[in-house]
Amino acid sequence: MTTQALTTAHWAGLAQVHKFGGTSLADAGRFRAVAAIVQQHCATPEQCWLVVSAPGKTTDQLCQLLDMAARGEALEPVLAEVQHSLTTLVQQSLTEPEQSDVLAQLQQWLALLPELAQAGRAADVLALGESVSALLLSRLLRQLGLAADWLDSRQFLTVDGQQVRWDQSEQDLQALCQPGIRVVTGFIGRDLAGNSLTLGRNGSDYSATILGRLVQAEQVTIWTDVDAIYSGDPRRLPAAVPYQQVSWRQACLLAELGNPVLHARTLSPLHNSQTKLLVRSSFEPERSGCHILPDADCLASFVTDLHDMVLLSMHQLHGLNASWLANALHQPVIALPQSCDAHVWLLPARVADEAVQLLARHQVHAVHDTSRYYAVAWLKPAQVQQADLPADVAACVKRLAPAHRYQNHELAIWLFDQELSAVNLAQLHQCCTQPRPEIQLIVAGTGNVGAEFLRLLPGHQQRCHSHALRLAVLFNSRQMVFEPDNGLELAQQMQQGRPLDQKALLAEIAQLKGPKVLIDLTPSQQLAEQYPAFIEAGCHLISANKQGVTLPEAEYQAILDRLDQQQLHWYSTTTAGAGLPVQRALQELHSAGDQVRRISGIFSGTLSWLLCQYDGSSAFSDLLLQARELGYTEPDPREDLSGRDVQRKLLVLARTMGCSLELDDIALEPLLPESLAGDSWQAFWQQRAEFDALMQAAWQQAQQQGLQLRYVGELSLTEAGVQARVRLVQVPASDPLAAILPCDNVFVIESDWYQELPLVIKGPGAGRTVTAGGVHADLAQLCQQLPAAAYSSRLS
Ligand code: ADP
Ligand code: ASP
Ligand code: MG
Repeated sequence: MTTQALTTAHWAGLAQVHKFGGTSLADAGRFRAVAAIVQQHCATPEQCWLVVSAPGKTTDQLCQLLDMAARGEALEPVLAEVQHSLTTLVQQSLTEPEQSDVLAQLQQWLALLPELAQAGRAADVLALGESVSALLLSRLLRQLGLAADWLDSRQFLTVDGQQVRWDQSEQDLQALCQPGIRVVTGFIGRDLAGNSLTLGRNGSDYSATILGRLVQAEQVTIWTDVDAIYSGDPRRLPAAVPYQQVSWRQACLLAELGNPVLHARTLSPLHNSQTKLLVRSSFEPERSGCHILPDADCLASFVTDLHDMVLLSMHQLHGLNASWLANALHQPVIALPQSCDAHVWLLPARVADEAVQLLARHQVHAVHDTSRYYAVAWLKPAQVQQADLPADVAACVKRLAPAHRYQNHELAIWLFDQELSAVNLAQLHQCCTQPRPEIQLIVAGTGNVGAEFLRLLPGHQQRCHSHALRLAVLFNSRQMVFEPDNGLELAQQMQQGRPLDQKALLAEIAQLKGPKVLIDLTPSQQLAEQYPAFIEAGCHLISANKQGVTLPEAEYQAILDRLDQQQLHWYSTTTAGAGLPVQRALQELHSAGDQVRRISGIFSGTLSWLLCQYDGSSAFSDLLLQARELGYTEPDPREDLSGRDVQRKLLVLARTMGCSLELDDIALEPLLPESLAGDSWQAFWQQRAEFDALMQAAWQQAQQQGLQLRYVGELSLTEAGVQARVRLVQVPASDPLAAILPCDNVFVIESDWYQELPLVIKGPGAGRTVTAGGVHADLAQLCQQLPAAAYSSRLS
């Protein structure tokens, strides 16, 4: 094949450029792995171009050498280190005769280093790393039987200031064309005067795409040490999501933000070209990698960070812009979105003075801030490219309290006084890239339980990984507040509201996007009767209010049917036993295949307390008064004594078991006989002696038989049907119904699996915290039932 036949036009559209980064060439083993990839991917050597970085940390060592030379320090220790690592690399990679040949060349280059470093010829010093890689890889390929030679990019790549001289570079490249695989040095080039220059740290990516354009490559593959571009640095963020595709626009932004996965200018040479760009792992070459696609939507979401940054302010730019400065300094320079006249750029502190001087030479007066910041940038996916941050991200950022925040529709940048801890960075990454779908909370009731529910809400909001719990509406029987500020006291929140207007409330709720849930923490029958309207507006239901779950069977069933039709859920675990997981236990037994035969228990904390305390020594009504004073009873304690609450709870349990029952199907023997209840509290109080006598007699009778009094609900499920009743009973001290503390609720479940010994669930069955906590447990259950979300374009 003649040299003439190998013009760039000849291989146009066919050439392949493969770039291998420093981590892919860190030692002899990695060189061999790269050679194997080349063997596999370069079936037609003439079409194959390789671009290489310096091995491993060589460029870092050479930078150190330059710094030491600039400070006039002795270079020997670092020189010895460079010599040792590169010599070992060559020895371990090649056999003779190539080994001696390459070592001789290496010695010559190393010998020049001290003089070049002392003369401040940085690019010539740095060029050593890429030159060694190119020479070494070409010889290794030859040893494997492939036609290969290396090419110093300073022989053809001409850069004028920030611009590649395309025509000249192409001509010079053509003149150098030889058959076989060409292994080209990345990172370096020459200026118009022929002096060496570098393209900035990480610049071999840019070299690869420059070459890709010069040879009109079909594809440029950036082989690195990660199998894809991830939503964050996978080495520091184990939860980072790999993307199979990334849009051109987002890859550009990510690169301009100084992310190491691609050098800032990598994409520019391929703009408007047909050349495909791919990022793959040389450590896992079997994986397909990540395509950077010009036409792809910006669906990915990225978090990237920058250390030790300062702010630079200018009033006039005289036509200059941040990317001009970034290219001049080979450093990320980010123009921050500002509302005032000043232009503010963010850039690394170590080049701030240089930037000010450079700008001054172009008549731009710039001053830099003395504060140093740790910056985190979020590249927003198209789904949330809007002025406001999603609630979840906003809440996370608020908690982290950045010193400054900037954002436009594509990008948010937060500046912190200190580096974020790994945990905080991981949390920020999590809410930016794996968004929790919002669930809108519509909270009804601002009494005891309502206030406690809201107090516990921020903790739950932080803990809940699957959903962002957004307090959307708060209302009580008088007022309603939309988007309440949960940072305020409840009373203040309600003050910001307007009078309750049922129609307006439902209309507002219907407009809320995504899943929503009515959390009924009221005792209101009226609200329970309106559940169908809330379901119509798309609400799941969580009720601490017993009224709904004990509505007449037809209404109750109608609610269940509506929920079913709309695929909505209803949780009401706190309606019996407050936070005790009784309904959950019954449901789990049922779904696991057990057959519950009987449930009995003490479901009234008030009656539990009264009967545990009562020892016949004083009047029962005195004890009742005491309980009222302690706040254990309803405002009118006769409500507790009526047993109706116990009857309702038994109905709740029966319905949990799937029994269709009305309240009146449950036989009720009140503790206070209706004949003694009186119309008014005074009327009752006047005849309390009669009630006291009844209680005294019952107690004595039990006492004589060594038994104890308990007010109990019982439900039996037999072949013949359901039997349910509520009454005062006498039980032996060994019975689970006896062995309780005052105020305890106890639920005794007998089933096929729990025959000999029943399953007993016991504990406080009332109280604001356990009830509000139980409502949060219901909310957590609901969240688990709902589908989760993450930004798409994932690698499967
Ligand atoms: P090379 O030596 O191949 O040029 P670099 O070290 O320059 O590789 O870049 C790859 C590194 O970039 C990865 O090892 C990874 O730690 C880091 N990185 C940071 N952010 C990302 C990201 N979003 N996706 C993938 N890698 C990332
Ligand atoms: N070797 C250079 C550096 O370490 C260029 C590169 O790796 O892309 O920055
Ligand atoms: Mg790199």
